[in-house]
Amino acid sequence: MDKPKKPDWLRVKLPVGESYKHVRGLVETHKLHTICESGNCPNMGECWGAGTATFMILGNVCTRSCGFCAVATGRPDAVDWDEPQRVAEAIHLMKVKHAVITSVDRDELKDGGSVIWYNTIRAVKALNPDTSLETLIPDFKGDKDNIQRVIDAAPEVVSHNIETVERLTRSVRIQAKYWRSMDVLRTLKTGGMRTKSGIMLGLGETKEEVLQTMRDLADCGLDVITLGQYLQPTQRHLAVQRFVHPDEFAELRERGYDMGFDYVESGPLVRSSYHSEKHVIPGYGR
Ligand code: SF4
Ligand code: SF4
Repeated sequence: MDKPKKPDWLRVKLPVGESYKHVRGLVETHKLHTICESGNCPNMGECWGAGTATFMILGNVCTRSCGFCAVATGRPDAVDWDEPQRVAEAIHLMKVKHAVITSVDRDELKDGGSVIWYNTIRAVKALNPDTSLETLIPDFKGDKDNIQRVIDAAPEVVSHNIETVERLTRSVRIQAKYWRSMDVLRTLKTGGMRTKSGIMLGLGETKEEVLQTMRDLADCGLDVITLGQYLQPTQRHLAVQRFVHPDEFAELRERGYDMGFDYVESGPLVRSSYHSEKHVIPGYGR
């Protein structure tokens, strides 16, 4: 099959400006990682230019090897117990009203990294009482105690990305399971969290499969859903099968609201953490 040509609607602004330099400086001086950089996100010009970034905790090496993800796979470094405080300080210096934190998967750890997650959320809250927090968490292999630790730390939004439709899960997220991720989201909701998940389009799924995945997420009581175009980070990663037209994203947004989601973020450049400050507020998207 011929490679589909990248359409104009995916052209993005180059990263420039004082805010961008400020965020880069904070990330470097606090020895932190961001998914913006590790994931080659196309929105860095916009987000960092607006003074916001998504921190990635528990190192920058993941024990998993998802076919779409640019984060390095391998044996991670030892857990850094000072990291929660450094993340809290960087967020404080960024003076943001809302922050997003994610992590690599640490399947080799008994707690799956959930204690560092707990410590990070609490440290951020202690130093930034007026900053809302979204945490994009791994599946913790479905371990209820580890998920409960995140619930106990009480971030404003907890997200866990389903990423793709059930049929493609094995090729896209080899170590993950579609229904296990659904269970994680259900557990979070039952625990009283505002929940969020995301789907990437253009990996070979059909529109009906996307709609079914959205229905499955709605059945878990999900509050916020994001739909964005998959972009191939390097030649070694899964190829883009299709560039989805903005009109189709707009239609999916409407279908999502019909299914009862509280907020639907749907568009070619949408990433899980894109515009996430709006996802905290109930009813904002309607
Ligand atoms: Fe970073 Fe998310 Fe913005 Fe991308 S969309 S630059 S990952 S904050
Ligand atoms: Fe990337 Fe997350 Fe998959 Fe690790 S688990 S490879 S960080 S998407």
